[in-house]
Amino acid sequence: MAGIVRIPWWQWTPFHAWRIVGFVEAADEVPDRLPAKGAVLVGSIQHPKWLAFDCPCQTGHRVMVSLDPQHNPHWIILKTKLLSVAPSIDYRAAERRCHYFIRRGRIIWADDVIGDDYG
Ligand SMILES: [Zn+2]
Repeated sequence: MAGIVRIPWWQWTPFHAWRIVGFVEAADEVPDRLPAKGAVLVGSIQHPKWLAFDCPCQTGHRVMVSLDPQHNPHWIILKTKLLSVAPSIDYRAAERRCHYFIRRGRIIWADDVIGDDYG
């Protein structure tokens, strides 16, 4: 057996699934560094405002989507432990597009589902 590995509390979850690792009051309180597959919810479960996380494309950019039903578009968290978010995340910037679903803690890239949809 290998030596004992210390695992932070937020990794005590099976499959290393995407999940919510914390809550903050305001968007500017989201930490610069987040654990792998960890999302931070701004607001509360009852009154969610934003969901912030590092994009799974691993180029190091942050994604922040509105959970406020007054905003258009906005997203809905279906599950918090095995994180599920609807609809898909579609991040567009000049140099890249990151389009994927977060379902039951996993990332499903849209081009795996939809096919050649990039035009
Ligand atoms: Zn990305």
